[in-house]
Amino acid sequence: MDKISTNSSDIDIGLIIDITLRQRTFKQDNMIFTLPPLPYAMDALEPAMSQQTIEYHYGKHLQTYVDNLNRLTEGTPYSDRSLEHLILTTTGPIFDNAAQVWNHTFFFDTLTPEPVRMPSELEFALTRDFGSVEEFKTRFKKAATEIFGSGWAWLAQDNAGRLHIIKESNAGNPMRAGYKPLLTIDVWEHAYYIDYRNRRGEFIDKCWELINWKRWQKECTRTC
Ligand code: MN
Repeated sequence: MDKISTNSSDIDIGLIIDITLRQRTFKQDNMIFTLPPLPYAMDALEPAMSQQTIEYHYGKHLQTYVDNLNRLTEGTPYSDRSLEHLILTTTGPIFDNAAQVWNHTFFFDTLTPEPVRMPSELEFALTRDFGSVEEFKTRFKKAATEIFGSGWAWLAQDNAGRLHIIKESNAGNPMRAGYKPLLTIDVWEHAYYIDYRNRRGEFIDKCWELINWKRWQKECTRTC
Protein backbone atom coordinates (compact mmCIF):
# COMPACT_ATOMS: atom_id res chain seq x y z
CA MET A 1 0.00 0.00 0.00
CA ASP A 2 1.17 3.51 -0.73
CA LYS A 3 2.25 5.70 2.09
CA ILE A 4 -0.13 8.45 3.06
CA SER A 5 1.57 11.79 3.27
CA THR A 6 1.80 13.22 6.75
CA ASN A 7 3.43 16.09 8.46
CA SER A 8 6.51 14.53 9.98
CA SER A 9 7.19 17.60 12.09
CA ASP A 10 4.27 16.55 14.30
CA ILE A 11 5.57 13.08 15.00
CA ASP A 12 7.67 13.26 18.13
CA ILE A 13 5.69 15.57 20.36
CA GLY A 14 2.43 15.06 22.19
CA LEU A 15 2.36 11.74 23.92
CA ILE A 16 6.04 11.70 24.78
CA ILE A 17 5.87 15.21 26.18
CA ASP A 18 2.83 14.27 28.29
CA ILE A 19 4.85 11.61 30.02
CA THR A 20 7.87 13.86 30.41
CA LEU A 21 5.79 16.49 32.11
CA ARG A 22 4.15 13.99 34.39
CA GLN A 23 7.50 12.56 35.42
CA ARG A 24 8.79 16.02 36.24
CA THR A 25 5.70 16.96 38.21
CA PHE A 26 6.22 14.32 40.86
CA LYS A 27 9.60 15.41 42.09
CA GLN A 28 10.60 14.56 45.65
CA ASP A 29 13.54 15.64 47.79
CA ASN A 30 16.71 14.91 45.87
CA MET A 31 14.82 12.34 43.82
CA ILE A 32 14.29 13.39 40.26
CA PHE A 33 12.60 10.26 39.06
CA THR A 34 9.48 9.11 40.87
CA LEU A 35 6.91 6.37 40.57
CA PRO A 36 4.20 7.66 38.19
CA PRO A 37 0.63 7.44 39.49
CA LEU A 38 -1.34 4.36 38.48
CA PRO A 39 -4.35 5.69 36.55
CA TYR A 40 -6.76 3.15 38.14
CA ALA A 41 -7.16 1.09 41.29
CA MET A 42 -4.89 -1.88 41.89
CA ASP A 43 -7.81 -4.29 41.37
CA ALA A 44 -9.46 -2.39 38.52
CA LEU A 45 -8.15 -4.62 35.73
CA GLU A 46 -9.32 -7.90 37.22
CA PRO A 47 -9.84 -10.59 36.10
CA ALA A 48 -7.64 -10.04 33.02
CA MET A 49 -4.86 -8.62 35.21
CA SER A 50 -5.07 -9.42 38.89
CA GLN A 51 -4.49 -7.10 41.82
CA GLN A 52 -1.55 -9.25 42.85
CA THR A 53 0.06 -8.82 39.42
CA ILE A 54 -0.38 -5.03 39.62
CA GLU A 55 0.97 -4.97 43.18
CA TYR A 56 4.14 -6.72 42.05
CA HIS A 57 4.47 -5.27 38.56
CA TYR A 58 3.68 -1.64 39.37
CA GLY A 59 4.40 -1.58 43.09
CA LYS A 60 7.64 -3.57 43.14
CA HIS A 61 9.16 -4.01 39.67
CA LEU A 62 8.53 -0.47 38.44
CA GLN A 63 9.46 0.99 41.83
CA THR A 64 12.76 -0.87 41.63
CA TYR A 65 13.55 0.59 38.21
CA VAL A 66 12.79 4.09 39.58
CA ASP A 67 15.01 3.49 42.62
CA ASN A 68 17.82 2.07 40.47
CA LEU A 69 17.66 5.05 38.13
CA ASN A 70 17.94 7.51 41.02
CA ARG A 71 20.86 5.58 42.49
CA LEU A 72 22.66 5.39 39.14
CA THR A 73 22.17 9.05 38.22
CA GLU A 74 22.55 10.72 41.63
CA GLY A 75 25.25 13.37 41.52
CA THR A 76 25.68 13.04 37.76
CA PRO A 77 24.51 15.31 34.92
CA TYR A 78 21.98 12.60 34.08
CA SER A 79 19.94 13.23 37.24
CA ASP A 80 18.33 16.31 35.77
CA ARG A 81 17.62 14.97 32.30
CA SER A 82 14.36 13.63 30.95
CA LEU A 83 13.72 9.94 30.56
CA GLU A 84 13.63 10.43 26.80
CA HIS A 85 17.05 12.07 26.85
CA LEU A 86 18.48 9.14 28.80
CA ILE A 87 16.83 6.61 26.48
CA LEU A 88 18.24 8.32 23.40
CA THR A 89 21.75 9.03 24.68
CA THR A 90 22.84 6.34 27.14
CA THR A 91 23.62 2.64 27.18
CA GLY A 92 24.07 0.11 29.94
CA PRO A 93 22.37 0.30 33.34
CA ILE A 94 21.21 3.94 33.06
CA PHE A 95 19.56 3.21 29.72
CA ASP A 96 18.08 -0.04 31.01
CA ASN A 97 16.43 1.55 34.02
CA ALA A 98 15.37 4.80 32.31
CA ALA A 99 13.77 2.84 29.48
CA GLN A 100 12.06 0.47 31.90
CA VAL A 101 10.56 3.44 33.77
CA TRP A 102 9.35 5.02 30.51
CA ASN A 103 8.10 1.73 29.04
CA HIS A 104 6.17 0.77 32.17
CA THR A 105 4.66 4.25 32.56
CA PHE A 106 3.52 4.03 28.96
CA PHE A 107 2.26 0.45 29.37
CA PHE A 108 0.19 1.11 32.49
CA ASP A 109 -1.22 4.25 30.87
CA THR A 110 -2.40 2.25 27.85
CA LEU A 111 -4.60 0.01 29.99
CA THR A 112 -8.07 0.87 31.23
CA PRO A 113 -10.81 -0.93 33.15
CA GLU A 114 -13.44 0.67 30.90
CA PRO A 115 -13.89 -0.97 27.49
CA VAL A 116 -13.02 1.55 24.80
CA ARG A 117 -14.05 1.40 21.17
CA MET A 118 -11.19 1.85 18.73
CA PRO A 119 -11.24 5.30 17.11
CA SER A 120 -11.97 5.21 13.39
CA GLU A 121 -8.68 6.96 12.64
CA LEU A 122 -6.67 4.17 14.22
CA GLU A 123 -8.86 1.50 12.61
CA PHE A 124 -8.21 3.15 9.25
CA ALA A 125 -4.46 3.28 9.81
CA LEU A 126 -4.25 -0.33 11.02
CA THR A 127 -6.30 -1.52 8.05
CA ARG A 128 -4.15 0.51 5.68
CA ASP A 129 -0.87 -0.89 7.01
CA PHE A 130 -1.80 -4.45 8.08
CA GLY A 131 -4.87 -5.31 6.00
CA SER A 132 -7.35 -5.33 8.88
CA VAL A 133 -7.52 -4.77 12.62
CA GLU A 134 -7.73 -8.53 13.18
CA GLU A 135 -4.67 -9.11 11.01
CA PHE A 136 -2.81 -6.48 13.03
CA LYS A 137 -3.74 -8.27 16.26
CA THR A 138 -2.67 -11.61 14.82
CA ARG A 139 0.70 -10.25 13.71
CA PHE A 140 1.22 -8.36 16.95
CA LYS A 141 0.51 -11.46 19.02
CA LYS A 142 2.89 -13.50 16.86
CA ALA A 143 5.63 -10.92 17.32
CA ALA A 144 4.99 -10.68 21.06
CA THR A 145 5.10 -14.44 21.56
CA GLU A 146 8.23 -14.78 19.41
CA ILE A 147 10.34 -12.45 21.57
CA PHE A 148 12.87 -14.77 23.16
CA GLY A 149 13.23 -14.06 26.84
CA SER A 150 12.27 -10.65 28.18
CA GLY A 151 11.15 -7.71 26.09
CA TRP A 152 8.41 -5.50 24.71
CA ALA A 153 6.19 -5.71 21.63
CA TRP A 154 5.38 -2.31 20.13
CA LEU A 155 3.10 -0.64 17.66
CA ALA A 156 5.05 2.37 16.47
CA GLN A 157 4.84 5.00 13.77
CA ASP A 158 7.61 6.01 11.38
CA ASN A 159 8.31 9.52 10.13
CA ALA A 160 6.06 8.98 7.13
CA GLY A 161 3.12 8.06 9.38
CA ARG A 162 3.12 4.33 8.67
CA LEU A 163 2.56 1.87 11.48
CA HIS A 164 4.97 -0.93 12.34
CA ILE A 165 5.07 -3.85 14.77
CA ILE A 166 8.45 -3.87 16.45
CA LYS A 167 10.02 -6.48 18.72
CA GLU A 168 12.42 -5.22 21.35
CA SER A 169 14.47 -7.27 23.80
CA ASN A 170 14.96 -6.38 27.45
CA ALA A 171 14.35 -2.61 27.95
CA GLY A 172 14.29 -1.76 24.22
CA ASN A 173 12.23 1.17 22.97
CA PRO A 174 11.65 1.99 19.28
CA MET A 175 12.17 5.72 19.81
CA ARG A 176 15.88 4.94 19.62
CA ALA A 177 15.37 4.04 15.98
CA GLY A 178 13.28 7.15 15.30
CA TYR A 179 9.83 5.64 15.72
CA LYS A 180 7.01 7.12 17.77
CA PRO A 181 5.63 4.50 20.20
CA LEU A 182 1.83 4.14 20.04
CA LEU A 183 1.18 0.93 21.96
CA THR A 184 3.18 -1.61 23.88
CA ILE A 185 2.66 -4.88 25.69
CA ASP A 186 5.19 -5.97 28.28
CA VAL A 187 6.21 -9.58 27.71
CA TRP A 188 8.66 -9.93 30.57
CA GLU A 189 7.50 -12.95 32.57
CA HIS A 190 6.80 -10.74 35.58
CA ALA A 191 3.97 -9.15 33.55
CA TYR A 192 1.94 -12.35 33.32
CA TYR A 193 3.40 -15.22 35.30
CA ILE A 194 1.17 -14.81 38.38
CA ASP A 195 -2.03 -14.88 36.30
CA TYR A 196 -1.09 -16.91 33.24
CA ARG A 197 2.03 -18.84 34.24
CA ASN A 198 3.85 -19.65 30.98
CA ARG A 199 0.87 -18.84 28.69
CA ARG A 200 2.13 -15.59 27.16
CA GLY A 201 -0.25 -15.83 24.19
CA GLU A 202 -3.28 -15.97 26.48
CA PHE A 203 -1.98 -12.89 28.29
CA ILE A 204 -1.70 -11.02 24.97
CA ASP A 205 -5.29 -11.99 24.07
CA LYS A 206 -6.54 -10.63 27.40
CA CYS A 207 -4.57 -7.40 27.00
CA TRP A 208 -6.69 -6.46 23.97
CA GLU A 209 -9.68 -6.19 26.33
CA LEU A 210 -7.79 -3.63 28.44
CA ILE A 211 -6.35 -1.32 25.80
CA ASN A 212 -7.46 2.29 25.95
CA TRP A 213 -7.61 2.87 22.20
CA LYS A 214 -8.90 6.42 22.65
CA ARG A 215 -5.49 7.39 23.90
CA TRP A 216 -4.36 7.59 20.26
CA GLN A 217 -7.35 9.40 18.81
CA LYS A 218 -5.72 12.81 18.89
CA GLU A 219 -2.38 11.50 17.71
CA CYS A 220 -3.84 9.56 14.82
CA THR A 221 -6.10 12.37 13.71
CA ARG A 222 -2.99 14.41 13.26
CA THR A 223 -0.38 12.01 12.00
CA CYS A 224 -1.65 8.57 10.95
MN1 MN B 1 7.31 -5.18 33.36
